[in-house]
Amino acid sequence: MSEPTDADKGPGHVKYEDWREHLETGTLLGVQCQSCGAVSATPKRACSGCGSREMAAIELPERGTVYSETTINVPPEDFDGTYQVGVVGLGETRLLARLRGAVDIGETVMFTGTIVEGDGPGPVFESAE
Ligand SMILES: [Zn+2]
Repeated sequence: MSEPTDADKGPGHVKYEDWREHLETGTLLGVQCQSCGAVSATPKRACSGCGSREMAAIELPERGTVYSETTINVPPEDFDGTYQVGVVGLGETRLLARLRGAVDIGETVMFTGTIVEGDGPGPVFESAE
């Protein structure tokens, strides 16, 4: 009898720590399903489309389009004033990010850095127009 293989240890498996490390050094890491090609902007153990566990690391584009945005008027205790968050479309996937510079839906934005909030760093995008 042989032990079942651990699919999570396959090549290209991206852990949250890897994702975070790349984010901090200026690389947006995503994962792509090797079965159906679906892309996710954050680490996933399995594809949300087909359930495959063959998820390989890919670099996401640094330029995207604002898909939705909202201004947080009642920030958590640690923050001063209001701030803007939004969903940025990056190629085939979307990523929740902090937005700087009062960007609008449909505007082109660039990944410019990270901001530490809550339990880890989050990506920051600024207008590229
Ligand atoms: Zn898939």
